[in-house]
Amino acid sequence: VTTFDDVLGQSIAVSLLRRALAAGRLPHALLFQGPAAVGKATVARVLAGALLCDAPGPAGPCGRCGSCRKLAHGNHPDSFTITRLPKRKTAAVAANDEDEADEDGPDAAAGKGTLRPFIVVDQIRDLLEHVAFPPREGRARVILIDPADRMHAAAQNALLKTLEEPASRTVFVLVASRPHLLLPTVRSRCLTVRFAALPVPELARLLVARGQSDAEALERAGLAGGRPGAALSLEPGSLRRRRDAVLAALETCARGVQGLADVPAVVAALLGDDEDGFLEGLEILEALLRDAALVAAGAAVERLVHADARERTAALGGRLGAPRAAAIVRSVERLRHDLRLNVNRTLVAEALLAAVAGGPVP
Ligand SMILES: [Zn+2]
Repeated sequence: VTTFDDVLGQSIAVSLLRRALAAGRLPHALLFQGPAAVGKATVARVLAGALLCDAPGPAGPCGRCGSCRKLAHGNHPDSFTITRLPKRKTAAVAANDEDEADEDGPDAAAGKGTLRPFIVVDQIRDLLEHVAFPPREGRARVILIDPADRMHAAAQNALLKTLEEPASRTVFVLVASRPHLLLPTVRSRCLTVRFAALPVPELARLLVARGQSDAEALERAGLAGGRPGAALSLEPGSLRRRRDAVLAALETCARGVQGLADVPAVVAALLGDDEDGFLEGLEILEALLRDAALVAAGAAVERLVHADARERTAALGGRLGAPRAAAIVRSVERLRHDLRLNVNRTLVAEALLAAVAGGPVP
Protein backbone atom coordinates (compact mmCIF):
# COMPACT_ATOMS: atom_id res chain seq x y z
CA VAL A 1 0.00 0.00 0.00
CA THR A 2 1.17 3.54 -0.72
CA THR A 3 1.71 5.67 2.39
CA PHE A 4 2.70 9.27 3.05
CA ASP A 5 6.31 8.05 3.35
CA ASP A 6 6.23 6.92 -0.29
CA VAL A 7 5.35 10.34 -1.71
CA LEU A 8 8.24 11.96 -3.59
CA GLY A 9 8.71 15.51 -2.32
CA GLN A 10 5.60 17.61 -1.53
CA SER A 11 6.69 17.73 2.12
CA ILE A 12 4.68 20.88 2.88
CA ALA A 13 1.42 19.39 1.59
CA VAL A 14 2.05 16.03 3.25
CA SER A 15 2.99 17.46 6.66
CA LEU A 16 -0.06 19.73 6.60
CA LEU A 17 -2.33 16.74 6.00
CA ARG A 18 -0.57 14.56 8.58
CA ARG A 19 -0.90 17.24 11.24
CA ALA A 20 -4.59 17.77 10.44
CA LEU A 21 -5.26 14.02 10.57
CA ALA A 22 -3.38 13.58 13.84
CA ALA A 23 -5.31 16.44 15.42
CA GLY A 24 -8.62 15.19 14.01
CA ARG A 25 -9.07 18.52 12.30
CA LEU A 26 -9.09 17.69 8.64
CA PRO A 27 -11.37 20.18 6.80
CA HIS A 28 -14.32 18.61 5.00
CA ALA A 29 -13.27 20.02 1.62
CA LEU A 30 -9.75 20.16 0.23
CA LEU A 31 -8.45 21.50 -3.04
CA PHE A 32 -5.20 19.88 -4.18
CA GLN A 33 -3.74 22.24 -6.76
CA GLY A 34 -0.51 22.21 -8.72
CA PRO A 35 0.96 21.11 -12.06
CA ALA A 36 0.07 17.80 -13.68
CA ALA A 37 1.87 14.66 -12.48
CA VAL A 38 3.45 16.09 -9.31
CA GLY A 39 1.64 13.76 -6.86
CA LYS A 40 -1.78 15.31 -6.16
CA ALA A 41 -3.80 12.18 -6.94
CA THR A 42 -1.28 9.95 -5.16
CA VAL A 43 -1.53 11.98 -1.97
CA ALA A 44 -5.33 12.04 -2.32
CA ARG A 45 -5.36 8.23 -2.43
CA VAL A 46 -3.12 7.99 0.64
CA LEU A 47 -5.37 10.44 2.46
CA ALA A 48 -8.43 8.37 1.54
CA GLY A 49 -6.64 5.30 2.87
CA ALA A 50 -5.76 7.07 6.13
CA LEU A 51 -9.38 8.14 6.62
CA LEU A 52 -10.92 4.76 5.83
CA CYS A 53 -8.29 2.42 7.38
CA ASP A 54 -9.33 0.55 10.55
CA ALA A 55 -5.92 1.12 12.17
CA PRO A 56 -4.17 4.07 10.50
CA GLY A 57 -0.65 5.03 11.60
CA PRO A 58 1.34 8.25 11.23
CA ALA A 59 2.27 7.27 7.66
CA GLY A 60 -1.38 6.70 6.74
CA PRO A 61 -3.17 3.44 5.91
CA CYS A 62 -1.98 0.12 7.36
CA GLY A 63 -2.48 -1.75 4.09
CA ARG A 64 -3.62 -4.93 5.87
CA CYS A 65 -7.08 -4.35 7.34
CA GLY A 66 -10.36 -5.08 5.61
CA SER A 67 -10.94 -1.43 4.72
CA CYS A 68 -7.48 -1.07 3.15
CA ARG A 69 -8.02 -4.25 1.12
CA LYS A 70 -11.40 -3.07 -0.15
CA LEU A 71 -9.92 0.29 -1.08
CA ALA A 72 -7.04 -1.38 -2.93
CA HIS A 73 -9.54 -3.47 -4.89
CA GLY A 74 -11.64 -0.45 -5.72
CA ASN A 75 -14.74 -1.70 -3.91
CA HIS A 76 -14.82 0.24 -0.64
CA PRO A 77 -18.44 1.44 -0.28
CA ASP A 78 -17.36 4.75 1.29
CA SER A 79 -14.83 5.71 -1.36
CA PHE A 80 -16.08 7.58 -4.42
CA THR A 81 -14.13 8.84 -7.41
CA ILE A 82 -15.76 11.28 -9.80
CA THR A 83 -13.95 11.68 -13.10
CA ARG A 84 -14.70 12.21 -16.76
CA LEU A 85 -16.75 9.37 -18.22
CA PRO A 86 -15.97 7.47 -21.39
CA LYS A 87 -17.92 8.95 -24.26
CA ARG A 88 -20.06 6.01 -25.28
CA LYS A 89 -21.51 5.54 -21.80
CA THR A 90 -23.00 8.99 -21.69
CA ALA A 91 -25.64 8.96 -24.41
CA ALA A 92 -28.30 9.59 -21.78
CA VAL A 93 -26.79 12.86 -20.55
CA ALA A 94 -25.75 13.97 -24.03
CA ALA A 95 -29.30 15.24 -24.46
CA ASN A 96 -28.58 17.84 -21.77
CA ASP A 97 -28.03 21.00 -23.81
CA GLU A 98 -26.30 22.87 -21.03
CA ASP A 99 -23.63 20.25 -20.64
CA GLU A 100 -22.99 20.06 -24.33
CA ALA A 101 -22.89 23.77 -25.07
CA ASP A 102 -19.14 24.27 -24.71
CA GLU A 103 -18.28 21.42 -27.02
CA ASP A 104 -19.15 23.47 -30.07
CA GLY A 105 -16.41 26.02 -29.42
CA PRO A 106 -13.39 26.50 -31.66
CA ASP A 107 -11.66 23.66 -29.90
CA ALA A 108 -14.47 21.16 -29.83
CA ALA A 109 -11.49 18.88 -30.36
CA ALA A 110 -11.23 18.75 -26.57
CA GLY A 111 -13.63 15.91 -27.36
CA LYS A 112 -11.21 14.20 -29.72
CA GLY A 113 -10.15 11.69 -27.06
CA THR A 114 -12.09 8.84 -25.56
CA LEU A 115 -13.33 10.75 -22.51
CA ARG A 116 -16.05 13.33 -22.28
CA PRO A 117 -14.59 16.84 -21.96
CA PHE A 118 -16.49 17.56 -18.75
CA ILE A 119 -17.67 16.07 -15.48
CA VAL A 120 -21.39 16.71 -15.86
CA VAL A 121 -24.06 17.76 -13.40
CA ASP A 122 -25.78 14.35 -13.44
CA GLN A 123 -22.63 12.75 -12.02
CA ILE A 124 -22.67 15.20 -9.11
CA ARG A 125 -26.41 14.70 -8.52
CA ASP A 126 -25.93 10.92 -8.40
CA LEU A 127 -23.12 11.40 -5.92
CA LEU A 128 -25.13 13.71 -3.67
CA GLU A 129 -27.82 11.04 -3.31
CA HIS A 130 -25.23 8.88 -1.57
CA VAL A 131 -23.96 11.76 0.53
CA ALA A 132 -27.44 12.21 2.02
CA PHE A 133 -26.83 9.02 4.06
CA PRO A 134 -24.15 8.29 6.66
CA PRO A 135 -21.04 6.38 5.54
CA ARG A 136 -21.82 2.67 5.13
CA GLU A 137 -18.90 1.26 7.08
CA GLY A 138 -18.66 3.87 9.74
CA ARG A 139 -15.38 5.72 9.89
CA ALA A 140 -15.65 8.21 7.06
CA ARG A 141 -16.55 8.76 3.44
CA VAL A 142 -14.05 10.14 0.94
CA ILE A 143 -15.04 11.71 -2.37
CA LEU A 144 -12.27 12.34 -4.87
CA ILE A 145 -13.09 14.63 -7.80
CA ASP A 146 -10.33 14.47 -10.40
CA PRO A 147 -9.90 16.49 -12.55
CA ALA A 148 -12.11 18.91 -10.62
CA ASP A 149 -11.26 21.70 -13.08
CA ARG A 150 -13.18 19.71 -15.69
CA MET A 151 -16.42 20.02 -13.76
CA HIS A 152 -18.98 21.80 -15.87
CA ALA A 153 -20.29 25.02 -14.29
CA ALA A 154 -23.64 23.33 -13.60
CA ALA A 155 -21.83 20.47 -11.87
CA GLN A 156 -19.88 22.92 -9.71
CA ASN A 157 -23.06 24.71 -8.75
CA ALA A 158 -24.69 21.41 -7.80
CA LEU A 159 -21.75 20.72 -5.50
CA LEU A 160 -21.76 24.12 -3.80
CA LYS A 161 -24.46 23.57 -1.21
CA THR A 162 -22.87 20.33 -0.03
CA LEU A 163 -19.49 22.02 0.29
CA GLU A 164 -21.19 24.73 2.32
CA GLU A 165 -23.14 22.41 4.64
CA PRO A 166 -21.01 19.29 4.70
CA ALA A 167 -22.46 15.87 5.28
CA SER A 168 -21.24 14.13 8.40
CA ARG A 169 -17.84 12.38 8.25
CA THR A 170 -17.52 13.15 4.54
CA VAL A 171 -14.33 14.59 3.05
CA PHE A 172 -14.22 16.03 -0.47
CA VAL A 173 -10.85 16.15 -2.23
CA LEU A 174 -10.85 18.23 -5.41
CA VAL A 175 -7.78 17.69 -7.60
CA ALA A 176 -7.01 20.44 -10.11
CA SER A 177 -4.03 21.46 -12.21
CA ARG A 178 -5.92 24.56 -13.40
CA PRO A 179 -7.81 25.74 -10.30
CA HIS A 180 -8.69 29.06 -11.95
CA LEU A 181 -11.30 27.14 -13.95
CA LEU A 182 -13.19 26.43 -10.71
CA LEU A 183 -15.87 28.86 -9.57
CA PRO A 184 -14.52 31.24 -6.91
CA THR A 185 -17.38 30.09 -4.67
CA VAL A 186 -16.18 26.48 -4.94
CA ARG A 187 -12.56 27.43 -4.33
CA SER A 188 -13.41 29.51 -1.29
CA ARG A 189 -15.14 26.58 0.41
CA CYS A 190 -12.06 24.38 0.16
CA LEU A 191 -8.79 24.44 2.05
CA THR A 192 -6.15 24.82 -0.67
CA VAL A 193 -3.22 22.41 -0.48
CA ARG A 194 -0.45 23.39 -2.88
CA PHE A 195 1.71 20.97 -4.83
CA ALA A 196 4.67 21.92 -6.99
CA ALA A 197 7.28 20.46 -9.31
CA LEU A 198 10.55 19.67 -7.50
CA PRO A 199 13.96 21.11 -8.32
CA VAL A 200 15.50 18.65 -10.78
CA PRO A 201 18.51 17.73 -8.54
CA GLU A 202 16.19 17.08 -5.57
CA LEU A 203 13.91 14.79 -7.59
CA ALA A 204 16.97 13.01 -8.99
CA ARG A 205 18.23 12.38 -5.42
CA LEU A 206 14.85 10.93 -4.42
CA LEU A 207 14.83 8.64 -7.48
CA VAL A 208 18.35 7.43 -6.64
CA ALA A 209 17.18 6.67 -3.09
CA ARG A 210 14.53 4.47 -4.72
CA GLY A 211 17.08 2.46 -6.60
CA GLN A 212 17.60 4.24 -9.91
CA SER A 213 21.12 4.81 -11.19
CA ASP A 214 22.49 8.37 -10.98
CA ALA A 215 22.38 8.75 -14.75
CA GLU A 216 18.84 7.45 -15.19
CA ALA A 217 17.53 9.46 -12.25
CA LEU A 218 19.01 12.70 -13.58
CA GLU A 219 17.72 12.02 -17.08
CA ARG A 220 14.21 11.20 -15.91
CA ALA A 221 14.04 14.11 -13.46
CA GLY A 222 15.18 16.55 -16.12
CA LEU A 223 12.96 15.29 -18.94
CA ALA A 224 9.99 15.30 -16.53
CA GLY A 225 10.71 18.90 -15.57
CA GLY A 226 10.89 17.94 -11.87
CA ARG A 227 7.43 16.35 -11.84
CA PRO A 228 7.69 13.08 -9.84
CA GLY A 229 4.68 11.41 -11.44
CA ALA A 230 5.99 12.09 -14.92
CA ALA A 231 9.51 10.94 -13.95
CA LEU A 232 8.18 7.65 -12.57
CA SER A 233 5.48 6.80 -15.06
CA LEU A 234 6.62 8.07 -18.40
CA GLU A 235 9.06 6.25 -20.56
CA PRO A 236 12.26 8.34 -20.93
CA GLY A 237 12.27 7.70 -24.68
CA SER A 238 8.84 9.28 -25.19
CA LEU A 239 9.68 12.20 -22.88
CA ARG A 240 12.87 12.79 -24.83
CA ARG A 241 11.13 12.59 -28.23
CA ARG A 242 8.57 15.20 -27.21
CA ARG A 243 11.22 17.46 -25.67
CA ASP A 244 13.42 17.16 -28.77
CA ALA A 245 10.47 17.88 -31.06
CA VAL A 246 9.66 21.10 -29.19
CA LEU A 247 13.35 22.06 -29.09
CA ALA A 248 13.68 21.46 -32.84
CA ALA A 249 10.61 23.64 -33.46
CA LEU A 250 12.17 26.42 -31.36
CA GLU A 251 15.44 26.14 -33.28
CA THR A 252 13.60 26.35 -36.58
CA CYS A 253 11.68 29.43 -35.52
CA ALA A 254 14.71 31.16 -33.96
CA ARG A 255 16.12 31.74 -37.46
CA GLY A 256 14.21 35.01 -37.64
CA VAL A 257 12.28 35.97 -40.78
CA GLN A 258 13.02 32.60 -42.34
CA GLY A 259 11.80 30.90 -39.16
CA LEU A 260 8.65 32.97 -39.14
CA ALA A 261 7.68 31.44 -42.49
CA ASP A 262 8.17 27.96 -41.04
CA VAL A 263 5.94 28.46 -37.96
CA PRO A 264 2.89 26.68 -39.47
CA ALA A 265 5.06 23.71 -40.44
CA VAL A 266 6.41 23.12 -36.92
CA VAL A 267 3.44 24.17 -34.76
CA ALA A 268 2.25 20.56 -34.38
CA ALA A 269 5.27 19.78 -32.18
CA LEU A 270 4.03 22.29 -29.62
CA LEU A 271 0.32 21.48 -29.99
CA GLY A 272 0.45 17.76 -29.28
CA ASP A 273 -2.61 15.59 -29.79
CA ASP A 274 -5.11 17.19 -27.45
CA GLU A 275 -5.52 19.80 -24.75
CA ASP A 276 -3.39 17.93 -22.19
CA GLY A 277 -0.76 17.42 -24.87
CA PHE A 278 -0.72 21.16 -25.53
CA LEU A 279 -0.36 21.98 -21.84
CA GLU A 280 2.56 19.56 -21.68
CA GLY A 281 4.06 21.19 -24.79
CA LEU A 282 3.78 24.60 -23.12
CA GLU A 283 5.53 23.28 -20.00
CA ILE A 284 8.38 21.92 -22.13
CA LEU A 285 8.61 25.17 -24.13
CA GLU A 286 8.74 27.19 -20.94
CA ALA A 287 11.47 25.00 -19.40
CA LEU A 288 13.58 25.14 -22.57
CA LEU A 289 13.30 28.91 -22.93
CA ARG A 290 14.05 29.39 -19.24
CA ASP A 291 17.15 27.24 -19.70
CA ALA A 292 18.07 29.28 -22.80
CA ALA A 293 17.77 32.53 -20.83
CA LEU A 294 19.80 31.09 -17.93
CA VAL A 295 22.60 29.78 -20.16
CA ALA A 296 22.70 33.05 -22.09
CA ALA A 297 23.08 34.83 -18.74
CA GLY A 298 25.94 32.48 -17.73
CA ALA A 299 24.09 30.36 -15.13
CA ALA A 300 25.59 27.12 -13.77
CA VAL A 301 24.47 23.88 -15.38
CA GLU A 302 22.93 22.68 -12.07
CA ARG A 303 20.22 25.28 -12.45
CA LEU A 304 19.04 23.93 -15.81
CA VAL A 305 16.07 21.61 -16.23
CA HIS A 306 17.35 20.07 -19.46
CA ALA A 307 21.04 19.91 -18.62
CA ASP A 308 21.73 17.31 -21.33
CA ALA A 309 20.52 19.74 -24.02
CA ARG A 310 22.67 22.59 -22.73
CA GLU A 311 24.60 23.18 -25.96
CA ARG A 312 21.39 23.51 -27.95
CA THR A 313 19.68 25.77 -25.40
CA ALA A 314 22.87 27.84 -25.26
CA ALA A 315 22.71 28.36 -29.03
CA LEU A 316 19.01 29.18 -28.73
CA GLY A 317 19.70 31.65 -25.92
CA GLY A 318 22.45 33.22 -28.02
CA ARG A 319 20.05 33.77 -30.92
CA LEU A 320 17.13 35.05 -28.84
CA GLY A 321 19.02 36.87 -26.11
CA ALA A 322 18.13 36.40 -22.45
CA PRO A 323 15.58 39.27 -22.27
CA ARG A 324 13.49 37.98 -25.19
CA ALA A 325 13.61 34.38 -23.94
CA ALA A 326 12.53 35.57 -20.47
CA ALA A 327 9.70 37.70 -21.95
CA ILE A 328 8.34 34.68 -23.84
CA VAL A 329 8.55 32.59 -20.64
CA ARG A 330 6.42 35.17 -18.81
CA SER A 331 3.98 35.14 -21.71
CA VAL A 332 3.68 31.34 -21.55
CA GLU A 333 2.98 31.50 -17.82
CA ARG A 334 0.23 34.04 -18.40
CA LEU A 335 -1.27 32.20 -21.36
CA ARG A 336 -1.27 28.88 -19.55
CA HIS A 337 -3.06 30.43 -16.63
CA ASP A 338 -5.66 32.04 -18.91
CA LEU A 339 -6.13 29.00 -21.06
CA ARG A 340 -9.77 28.12 -21.16
CA LEU A 341 -11.25 25.06 -22.75
CA ASN A 342 -12.56 27.09 -25.67
CA VAL A 343 -9.46 29.03 -26.77
CA ASN A 344 -8.05 28.26 -30.16
CA ARG A 345 -4.92 26.35 -29.25
CA THR A 346 -3.41 26.61 -32.72
CA LEU A 347 -3.54 30.41 -32.64
CA VAL A 348 -1.89 30.49 -29.21
CA ALA A 349 0.85 28.07 -30.29
CA GLU A 350 1.53 29.97 -33.51
CA ALA A 351 1.71 33.30 -31.68
CA LEU A 352 4.31 31.92 -29.24
CA LEU A 353 6.48 30.41 -31.99
CA ALA A 354 6.18 33.63 -34.00
CA ALA A 355 7.52 35.46 -30.93
CA VAL A 356 10.53 33.11 -30.98
CA ALA A 357 11.01 34.09 -34.64
CA GLY A 358 11.09 37.78 -33.69
CA GLY A 359 7.40 38.65 -33.83
CA PRO A 360 5.60 40.48 -31.04
CA VAL A 361 5.44 38.61 -27.71
CA PRO A 362 1.76 37.73 -27.13
ZN1 LIG B 1 -5.86 -0.38 7.13
